[in-house]
Amino acid sequence: MTSQDYIKLEDKYGAHNYHPLDVVIDRGKGVWVWDVEGKKYLDFLSAYSAVNQGHCHRKIINALTEQANKLTLTSRAFYNSVLGEYEKYITEFFGYDKVLPMNTGVEGDETAIKLARKWGYDVKGIQRDEAKIIFCEGNFHGRTMAAISASTDPECRDGFGPYLPGFEIIPYNDLEALEKALEDSNVAAFLVEPIQGEAGVFVPDEGYLKKAHELCKAKNVLLICDEVQTGLARTGKMLASDHEGVRPDILILGKALSGGVMPISAVLADDDIMLTIKPGQHGSTFGGNPLAGKVAIAALEVLKEEKLAENAEELGQYFRNEMQKLVDEMEILTLVRGKGLLNAIVIKPIAKGKTAWDVCLELKNNGLLAKPTHGDIIRFAPPLVITKEEIDWAIERIRKVLIQFEEENKLVTEESQ
Ligand SMILES: *Cc1c(COP(=O)(O)O)cnc(C)c1O
Repeated sequence: MTSQDYIKLEDKYGAHNYHPLDVVIDRGKGVWVWDVEGKKYLDFLSAYSAVNQGHCHRKIINALTEQANKLTLTSRAFYNSVLGEYEKYITEFFGYDKVLPMNTGVEGDETAIKLARKWGYDVKGIQRDEAKIIFCEGNFHGRTMAAISASTDPECRDGFGPYLPGFEIIPYNDLEALEKALEDSNVAAFLVEPIQGEAGVFVPDEGYLKKAHELCKAKNVLLICDEVQTGLARTGKMLASDHEGVRPDILILGKALSGGVMPISAVLADDDIMLTIKPGQHGSTFGGNPLAGKVAIAALEVLKEEKLAENAEELGQYFRNEMQKLVDEMEILTLVRGKGLLNAIVIKPIAKGKTAWDVCLELKNNGLLAKPTHGDIIRFAPPLVITKEEIDWAIERIRKVLIQFEEENKLVTEESQ
């Protein structure tokens, strides 16, 4: 079967809820993936930062197969011999009293929202069914009804109403708006991404998160950080909130918590918050399964052992510097932004109606996989195990492809004058 056959198969039998780049990946190792024709690509997306540790990391796969041969699922109807070990490991790793294990990232957000509401009623004393949660414009917290009720992206949201009440949405990176929203004593929590990934890697002003946390504390409101994408070494620290020395009251993790091996998410908080949820009030059949426990421990160990945060910090600086040179040289590039190895470039409208999508197709033809977001933005987020040589390899391809579009653009613009 060729790539086209596989694409046709998905198109015929699968729901059309995605618009993939036309590459059919068959195999992966570290930062590299191979398509069904055997062509090799550098993965510059990392499954939206789920594969921070690189594809099929030996240590994580070993943990997976070893546990898979022993015990995979008990449900939480019974105890299992891995969950306690995992809970101790992850809570000590991040410095919280307790963890609530779930599966997908969006379930982590759902859990945090429920937890904040429960805390709002039981601890803060908000009147039943009156609790409010503040979100930011441009957020991405996933695809459930709660997440899309908080979304301002028409693509995520339109046509799926009615939406959940009790959500207030304020501009991102706007402390005044936050201060105003916090005046309402029914507010239980402020849920925010330290950097907005899906929105196109929007990095807020320095001090934003720190000040936001102070404002929340002053009003007895919980700060919830969605670090599903920014966490786990991606931005050059273990958590993006570490850049500002902020310890969120509730921390949501997902994606790279399994190194891309299976869906594992986690919500971390201290006892005064976590213990407001009682037996039977929340959970998931697969949440806290022993397979996930072993995989997550291995995935977290890899981050530390291989110093992936340090690597992301160092190579991220280098990558942005090199991209900035291209921005300075070229008409079609507006800017580069990001932190660690979570970066994006913004492309100006190119002649003949070409867009960031065409740039990504051409990058793919040159052996580099990246995906546009919101029309004119390309996110660059390779696995964090990437080396300097591999980053240089990528930069060379990006330069070559952008120069190609730059020259074509110039030619067309000159002709039309
Ligand atoms: C990807 C993502 C989610 C949702 O995770 P899923 O595993 O796709 O449900 C939530 N929040 C952020 C910030 C994300 O990047």
